[in-house]
Amino acid sequence: MTYQIKKAAVLGSGVMGSGIAAHLANIGIPVLLLDIVPGQLTEEEVAKGLTLEDDAIRNKMSAGALQKLLKQKPAPLTKKSNVSLIEAGNFEDDLEKLKNVDWIIEVIVENLDVKKGLYEKIDAVRKPGTIITSNTSGISIEAMAEDRSEDFQKHFLGTHFFNPPRYLKLLEVIPASTTTPEVVDFMTRFGEDVLGKGVVIAKDTPNFIANRIGTYGLLITLREMEKRGYSIGEVDSVTGTLIGRPTSATFRTLDVVGLDTFMHVAKNVYDKTEGEEQKVFELPPFMKKMIDNGWIGAKAKQGFYQKKGKEILELNTETFEYSPAKKLTTSSIEMAKQQKGLANKVKTLVYADDRTGEILWNILAPTLRYSAELNGEIADDIVSLDNAMKWGFGWQQGPFEIWDAIGVEKSVVKMKEEGYEIPSFVQSLLAKGYESFYKEEDSELYFFDGEDYKLVPVNEKVIDLKRYKKKHGVIKKNSGASLIDLGDGVALLEFHSQSNSIGPDIIQMINFAVDEVEKNFKGLVIGNQGKNFCVGANLGMILMEAQDDNIFELDFIVRSFQNAMMKIKYSSKPVVAAPFAMTLGGGAEVCLPAAHIQASMETYMGLVEAGVGLIPGGGGNVGLYTKHLKGLPNGVHIDYQFVANKVFETIATAKVSTSGEEARDTNFLDFADGISVNADHLIYDAKQAAIALFDTGYKAPAREKFPVTGDSGYATMLLGAEGMFLSGFISEHDLKIAKKLAFVLAGGKVPYGTLVDEQYMLDLEREAFLSLVAEPKSQQRMQHMLIKGKPLRN
Ligand code: NAD
Repeated sequence: MTYQIKKAAVLGSGVMGSGIAAHLANIGIPVLLLDIVPGQLTEEEVAKGLTLEDDAIRNKMSAGALQKLLKQKPAPLTKKSNVSLIEAGNFEDDLEKLKNVDWIIEVIVENLDVKKGLYEKIDAVRKPGTIITSNTSGISIEAMAEDRSEDFQKHFLGTHFFNPPRYLKLLEVIPASTTTPEVVDFMTRFGEDVLGKGVVIAKDTPNFIANRIGTYGLLITLREMEKRGYSIGEVDSVTGTLIGRPTSATFRTLDVVGLDTFMHVAKNVYDKTEGEEQKVFELPPFMKKMIDNGWIGAKAKQGFYQKKGKEILELNTETFEYSPAKKLTTSSIEMAKQQKGLANKVKTLVYADDRTGEILWNILAPTLRYSAELNGEIADDIVSLDNAMKWGFGWQQGPFEIWDAIGVEKSVVKMKEEGYEIPSFVQSLLAKGYESFYKEEDSELYFFDGEDYKLVPVNEKVIDLKRYKKKHGVIKKNSGASLIDLGDGVALLEFHSQSNSIGPDIIQMINFAVDEVEKNFKGLVIGNQGKNFCVGANLGMILMEAQDDNIFELDFIVRSFQNAMMKIKYSSKPVVAAPFAMTLGGGAEVCLPAAHIQASMETYMGLVEAGVGLIPGGGGNVGLYTKHLKGLPNGVHIDYQFVANKVFETIATAKVSTSGEEARDTNFLDFADGISVNADHLIYDAKQAAIALFDTGYKAPAREKFPVTGDSGYATMLLGAEGMFLSGFISEHDLKIAKKLAFVLAGGKVPYGTLVDEQYMLDLEREAFLSLVAEPKSQQRMQHMLIKGKPLRN
């Protein structure tokens, strides 16, 4: 049987149900969202004359959830209007509609009997072949499938999303013994390709993979903190980014998750384990007391931390008083910061003979040992275990990668000295004379499976650039960028400067890349796998030249940036830009001239130069204006003023999209541009787009003149800005920047409708940019951004 999911139903519209429904809507799948019918009316509803028979009451839960989706932060929807793809209903009146869906996902309360009760009703209405999954955090999938029809059981499995579903990468797929293998295969592929998740196959054991190890690690940390007399803040200062974990580290993560939720997750394992393992899953008394007090974290505005004005206070778990949060400051932290790469940093810290080393070793050693003990029991291999922790808990390295980093043999000697029992899996690795759980040979990655090394399975859509370059080398490289042969006639231009900011090295590589591609390739992809696609031009360099009054040098830099952008635009071979995460200023300017943009679903794109006292200087003004014009139909009367105003507003207010989808609203993307839901597939998708453009006879765009709004346009654009200045919303300097921007977008002092060419507009842009760079207030803004990382309003 071939499966296809065109429509889905989400049962339960609580925290997870509504989030999953939003994620499905974001990727274009219509969703039926059902929930229970309320048993009674509120006083307010009675006063309004409503009854329990009214639809407004019967669908109250799911309809209310839709309203919440629009306000929630971080936004579950990539675009507010996606909510229209979700139809609200209830379990009593709308169950029959389940006949029309291809996937039913159950996301109701974590209670076996309640879930089974609902499945019985679903079994009676669903059409054969409909996939049905549960989002349970830890109830046995096998137990939930009991008593159901054969077809139900064949199509039933666990799909465990992590909160928030839009943003967290992990999807644990948990088959029961009755699940048809084709259904498991289909959901794995669907999870990766359509839902954009990192799929890990988990075994049907308590809390599956990530929550089992993650909860254990958190509880061990609580215990060690208490036993060794560390403060909450001290522990967080060394268990976050320092060791490649999220900034929320240990205790802020618990505050965000909520201690009440955490208690349920821990209890789940506690109830199903015994002995020493079970003891770890019992909450320490201070945590139980916090829950009794209602100090359950962020939602109660009080947990391990409390905010007093601007000050962050930490809880003393003995006295139950709050005091200013402390940090560990030991020499090993300084030493680790000097080290290159996370592996070296962690190694330095874990073996350090100071307070940082003491706590980190005593947290990591048991967690690594526990992971090795569970390997095979909760997942088939260490790759799944590592991926689950990376994708579900935001760790940069999974337990076995960390273990390799600190040295397996060295750590095992220390563990043995301290009386740890060493899992047989680890013993057999060392007995065979091997040194690490992973090894690289001929640029391929292998993992130890208990007997020997096996190739780590790789999805062809996941191109790991680091490994790819090791294997295939580069065509050319400089300090800021590399040109790589991606195969199949496509080259990749990769930025790798600091924060991927654009300087002369990248400009030089763009020129070289386009020349090379025009001669020898079908197309070019501009993409990378850094933290962000590109945060803009190299501001430090611009400020330095400006402070030295090097106007000629600046003019040259801006000119070459503009020329490089034109080179991208008029390349005879298609150039595909592949932005993701922060794509700001110069980063957005590199995308605008591309023949096609293949953006990640999570792309935060905008021309933010106004924040640093400037306007775009790499063709961004004319680029956004003409991209907007290009999207309008031919042969109808168009009010260019409308277009100019919109572009003006986008740039003057430094508007940044909150998703790739939203970047269509500001015209950075048009409807022909693509969006990749799975960020790991972005380079692959962009490469396919370049090939498709080439194969369909790509031709560079013609150099056409286009209309501008001129004098009247300038005045109109400024109307709003002047009003805002007069009412005190923007500063005098903001108004000055707005005037320069309006002048450039209007095409200077010409009549409305004048046809101009691109170079004329670029010259206006460059003049305006250079005059702003020389302004002391703009230089203050740049300096502030470079030092403080945020805009200065002066
Ligand atoms: P929630 O409390 O926000 O939502 C529970 C939903 O169940 C609500 O829609 C509620 O109306 C419905 N419900 C309550 N009683 C019911 C009944 N008797 N019959 C049918 N429906 C009923 O909970 P949640 O956090 O969204 O969790 C839902 C599921 O997802 C649970 O299985 C939970 O373990 C799992 N989960 C939660 C998280 C998380 O971080 N919250 C993460 C992963 C998985």
